[in-house]
Amino acid sequence: MSQRTGPERPSAPSRTAGEADVIVVGAGPAGSTTAYYLARAGLDVLLLEKASFPRDKVCGDGLTPRAVRQLVRMGIDTSAPGWIKNRGLRIIGGGMRLHLPWPELASYPDYGLVRTRTDFDELLARHAATAGARLHERTNVTGPVVDERTGHITGVTAKPLDERGRAVGEAVTYRAPLVVAADGTSSRLSTAMGIHKREDRPMAVAVRTYYKTPRHDDDWMESWLELWAENPSGGRDLLPGYGWIFGTGNGTSNVGLGITNTSKAFGRVDYKDMLRRWAAQTPPEWGFTEENQIGDIRSAALPMGFNRQPHYSRGLLLVGDAGGMVNPFNGEGIDYAMEAANLAATVIADALSRDAAGRERVLQGYPAALKHEHGGYFTLGRIFVRLIGDPRIMRIARNHGLPRPWLMKFTLKLLANLTDHRDGDAYDRVINAMTRLAPAA
Ligand SMILES: Cc1cc2nc3c(=O)[nH]c(=O)nc-3n(C[C@H](O)[C@H](O)[C@H](O)COP(=O)(O)OP(=O)(O)OC[C@H]3O[C@@H](n4cnc5c(N)ncnc54)[C@H](O)[C@@H]3O)c2cc1C
Repeated sequence: MSQRTGPERPSAPSRTAGEADVIVVGAGPAGSTTAYYLARAGLDVLLLEKASFPRDKVCGDGLTPRAVRQLVRMGIDTSAPGWIKNRGLRIIGGGMRLHLPWPELASYPDYGLVRTRTDFDELLARHAATAGARLHERTNVTGPVVDERTGHITGVTAKPLDERGRAVGEAVTYRAPLVVAADGTSSRLSTAMGIHKREDRPMAVAVRTYYKTPRHDDDWMESWLELWAENPSGGRDLLPGYGWIFGTGNGTSNVGLGITNTSKAFGRVDYKDMLRRWAAQTPPEWGFTEENQIGDIRSAALPMGFNRQPHYSRGLLLVGDAGGMVNPFNGEGIDYAMEAANLAATVIADALSRDAAGRERVLQGYPAALKHEHGGYFTLGRIFVRLIGDPRIMRIARNHGLPRPWLMKFTLKLLANLTDHRDGDAYDRVINAMTRLAPAA
C-alpha cells in the first residue's frame, strides 16, 4: 500500500490488486533494482516477470567493482557464500599474460565478483520483494494500456503463464500512472510505445557456455584479446572477437566470446563454432573438453551506448538493456542497469509527489541525468568500438600497449570506468576530463 499521497492518485483503500503507484516490467537486474528502490521510497510497486525463478540468462556473470558498489548500497552481503571474489583482470594476448589488479580508489571497492545469473537474478528479485515490491512471476506483459486522450501509458496487459511458459487463463490488466520498461534488449514494451532502437549505435553479439573445471575458483577474471583456433590443415587461424573465462566458484567456469558490429566478421561467422574451436585450444589444465561442457552454447545481443532513446516518454521510463545501457568499452551491462534503476526510482518518487505539470518536468529530468552521468563516457566508448573493429589497430594496440604497464593501468581504468572524481591520480584526471569534454551520447 502506498505510504505517500500524490495529487492524482486514487486513495489506497480503493485500490485493487491490479493497481499500483508504479509497474515495473521485467525482473532482471534493471527491474529488480528499480522495484527495490521504489519500495524503499514507500511506493506500491508491481514487478511483473514472465519467467519464474530461478531462471537462466545468457551472460558472462562478471561484476566489476562498479557493480559491487551497487550491490553494497542495496545492503546485499557480498561476503556470504555463493559470491566469488576476484582481484582484477588477467589479460592474455600478443604472447603476453598480464595481471592488472582492480585500482585502489575511494569511490569503489577493490574487488569484483562472479555469480551465475541463475542465482544472481533470483537474489535481486527476492531482495526487492523483501523490501515490499509485489513480485508476480510467470506474468507475460503483452502490451501497454494507453490513455487515448493524452497518449500516456496508464498500465499494461499481461497473460499468466504455466510452469512450461504456456499462456493459461484470462488476460489481466494492471494499472499505474508510471511504467518502467526493464524487459531487456528487445523491449517489446518500448517498441509498442513507439521507442525504437537506434541503428547508429554499437551493438555486440556474445555467446557463452559453462565447463566443469578444477580452476572454477580462479580469483582473476580472464580476458583474451586474441582467439586462436586450429584449422583442418594443421595451421592456426586468428578468429575475430574477444574471449573471457570467469570462474563461478560452483565447479564451473563461464566461457564466452563477443564480437561488435564494427567488426567485418559480425553476422557472418558461426559464433558457437568459434567458441568450440577456441575453447579446444585453451591450456589443457582448464579442462575445456566436450565432456566437461555443461549445457548448450547460447547467444544474445548486447545493446550499447544508449541505443534506444528517449529514456522517458509519455509515462514510460526505460532502464537497463531496454534503454541500450551496456558499456561499449567492456560489454558490462549489469552495473549500468542498476545505476539507472537507482536514478529512475529517485526521479519517480520525486515525480509522484508533484502535481501533473511538475511531475512531467521531473520525469523529463531522467534522460538528462542519464546523459549527464554516462553520455560523454559512452560517446568515447563508441569511438573505441569503431577502432577495435579494425584488426590493424588492434595489432598495434597489442604490440605497443600490452608491454607498457603504465598504459595498461590507464586502459583498465578507462575500460572499467573506475576513477575517483575528487583527489584522483593523473590517470583519473585525464579520463574524467576526456569524459567531460566528449559530447553526451
Ligand atoms: C553473452 C553475454 C555476456 C554478458 N556478460 C556480462 C558480464 O559479464 N557482466 C555484465 O555486467 N554484463 C554482461 N552482459 C550484459 C548483461 O547481461 C545485461 O546488460 C543485463 O542482463 C541487463 O539487465 P536488464 O535487467 O536490463 O535485462 P535482462 O537481464 O535481460 O532482464 C530482462 C527481464 O525482463 C523479462 N521480460 C522480458 N520480456 C518480458 C515481458 N514481456 N513480460 C514480463 N517480463 C519480461 C525477462 O524474462 C528478464 O527477466 C552480457 C550479455 C551477454 C549477451
